[in-house]
Amino acid sequence: VTRIWIAIEIPPALLRDIEQGVFYCSESILHSRVDRSRGAGIELEIADGADGDAVESSVRHWIEQVIARSLTYEDRTLREWGTMPGTFAATPDAIAASSELRTLGEGLVAYGPRLTQVLRSIVRLCDGLSEAIGAQPLTLPAVATLEHMQRCDYLHQFPQLLSFVTHFREDYAVIDAFAAQCRRGQADACQPRPEALRPFARLLRPAVCYHVYPCFEGMTVASDPLLVCATGDCFRYESRNTTELDRLFDFRMYEIVALGSTAGVLRWRDQMISQVADLLEQLGLPGRIKTSNDPFFVSGSVMKSTFQRAHDLKYELEVPFPNAEGKLAVASFNHHQGFFGSRFEIRSRDGAVADTGCTALGLDRILAALLVHHGLDIPRWPASSRRRLGIG
Ligand code: ATP
Ligand code: ZN
Ligand code: MG
Repeated sequence: VTRIWIAIEIPPALLRDIEQGVFYCSESILHSRVDRSRGAGIELEIADGADGDAVESSVRHWIEQVIARSLTYEDRTLREWGTMPGTFAATPDAIAASSELRTLGEGLVAYGPRLTQVLRSIVRLCDGLSEAIGAQPLTLPAVATLEHMQRCDYLHQFPQLLSFVTHFREDYAVIDAFAAQCRRGQADACQPRPEALRPFARLLRPAVCYHVYPCFEGMTVASDPLLVCATGDCFRYESRNTTELDRLFDFRMYEIVALGSTAGVLRWRDQMISQVADLLEQLGLPGRIKTSNDPFFVSGSVMKSTFQRAHDLKYELEVPFPNAEGKLAVASFNHHQGFFGSRFEIRSRDGAVADTGCTALGLDRILAALLVHHGLDIPRWPASSRRRLGIG
């Protein structure tokens, strides 16, 4: 590998977004590290044989664009609890090396029986939150149509995260040719020819709540807010930011979604923020609730992230974590205003376009946070955490 240092002043609020977003500039970038203490630039490792000058100039251009287009806001903290541990009980590497976690491909993990038990307990706790507020459970598909995601404006906002799904054209000549090609040999030889495939009409869902809105299309919601919940696998292509523990390609999310008036949705969101914070505290995890934004990668989304910060549309619950940033977002609390209500013609009781909001809990990340804070030996976790989880 070759190391290059790009000297460019980066505002503190953009350090993380730039460190993670830079990978989408070029596939030859293998590693990135911003200068966190002074914001004086970014160090990249690039693959041998790559054109360093070309990478440097495209990265520099992208960073300049990002900086020029973003207005930065100070994050506001709503609540903070617990104490930062002196050292963590387990490192992400040690957890990834444990027999309870197997990586079956980049960002694809399998949990063993003990971690599965904890994960199920976390889901039960989320179900408990849902039941207590009267959220009705829904079952939703893990695949979304291109048309639907276009209506949600997701394709334009987060193209770098997408994972498309397609199929062979109905034609045995094409299908048999592929089968013959894959009869033996390496997986490399099994790439379908592009013309053998149908156009991409579906994708893997990047979050659970997108499927909720079409379920209420054209309806007036009867309560304020109306609450539903759903859980399942979500998929995001995180490029080289993918890890074996906390930034996966296939990860599990639990969402509670509210549809109603602006006041109803905001009141509900405040309630969720305090209940989820209480829950994490009872599990023995320190944390903080702060304003946030969806990190931008493509230039157009910069406006969105600025808008979110300016209007308090996104809050995040972060837990101290042994990564470059020292913290991990385990849940987000979002207010979409009337965006989905108008796209899907959903009305609140008073006849106005419904506001919507969602609380999204990252189940794998809550598990990862428990492991780094309490260690790999689950029977030795604090008794109060185990009691809350219902595991002895
Ligand atoms: P981050 O800033 O860490 O990428 P995000 O803002 O993209 O998070 P949301 O879109 O708010 O995350 O998703 C809701 C929750 O899903 C997050 O708070 C997190 O717990 C979880 N999550 C998001 N992306 C991943 C991932 N790639 N792997 C595991 N969990 C994830
Ligand atoms: Zn959501
Ligand atoms: Mg993200």
